[in-house]
Amino acid sequence: MMIVMKEGATQEQIQAVVGRVESVGCSAHVSQGELLTVIGAIGERDRVTALGLEGAPGVDHLVPILKPYKLASAQFRKGERSVIEVDGRKVGGDHFTLIAGPCTVESREQTLAVARTVADSGAAMLRGGAYKPRTSPYSFQGLGAEGLRFLQEAKDETGLPVVTEVMDARDISDVAEVADVIQIGARNMQNYPLLSEVGRTGIPVLLKRGLASTLEELLMAAEYVLKEGNERVILCERGIRTFETGYRFTLDLLAVPALHELSHLPVVIDPSHAAGRRDWVKPMSLAAAAAGADGIIVEVHNEPEEAICDGPQALPTEEFADYAEQVRQVAEVAGKAVSTV
Ligand code: PEP
Ligand code: MN
Repeated sequence: MMIVMKEGATQEQIQAVVGRVESVGCSAHVSQGELLTVIGAIGERDRVTALGLEGAPGVDHLVPILKPYKLASAQFRKGERSVIEVDGRKVGGDHFTLIAGPCTVESREQTLAVARTVADSGAAMLRGGAYKPRTSPYSFQGLGAEGLRFLQEAKDETGLPVVTEVMDARDISDVAEVADVIQIGARNMQNYPLLSEVGRTGIPVLLKRGLASTLEELLMAAEYVLKEGNERVILCERGIRTFETGYRFTLDLLAVPALHELSHLPVVIDPSHAAGRRDWVKPMSLAAAAAGADGIIVEVHNEPEEAICDGPQALPTEEFADYAEQVRQVAEVAGKAVSTV
């Protein structure tokens, strides 16, 4: 249930509503806009209805949220899109955010080389995994804490905020020291304790859609983070499993307009993991920008042929400036402003 307060409702009136909602065992999430305050009451709808808040001091009206996800639903923001701040940069709304970097952090030299290139060519954030979800336990698993140090150095030098994955709740505090955005990978989208724990850090979260998850399941996963009071969630479509074996995953671009209808959260596209091949990354990136995506997260490498992980899909650093420029042009046609700072 959403409780919409009257314009000019006082703090006492807001607190009184919060108190009454909590008194019946529900939780209250206060969202204060410029003019209006909306209180999301999460819990059993019957209990909130029974409070008779309609007509209570400061309350304008009540709106039931029928979707199973509440805080993530478009209704929760009354159709207004969320704009998320990451270290001074804006994600969502009219902004288009290009996030680029290697699949995995391999060395200091590689991380800095890629970070410098993408910073010079219009990326707003640096991606790179220090903890890698690998299908085989015998594959390289990431540099861990050492990788985090290289990311920190790249951030100090280029000023780019860092997007990096956490897979194990025991690593959250280390990752949180470096990450400006914590990535939850596709394979962990339904790791609910991890989502809650990451939500509690208050650090923005990039939540990737599971390999075989519906949009509703993705939004329910986002709800776990939002429920912890962390409002900065970025959804990411990275390709799903279908019967098609001609490419790595099927990039579901309809997820962009569909998620924009269902939710107020920004939606970014990862063309790299879907395509699996660098020559398919640009067409899918341009299509994503044209579809109204709020951004792209793309893999880039200074020596793709030597990459430890996902080399065939990595854009070479030499090609990144042209790529970024073309994406920018299409994003602008779709009505977005590409923000680098
Ligand atoms: C990644 O971004 O490096 C990654 C492993 O992605 P996904 O979780 O989407 O497979
Ligand atoms: Mn990868």
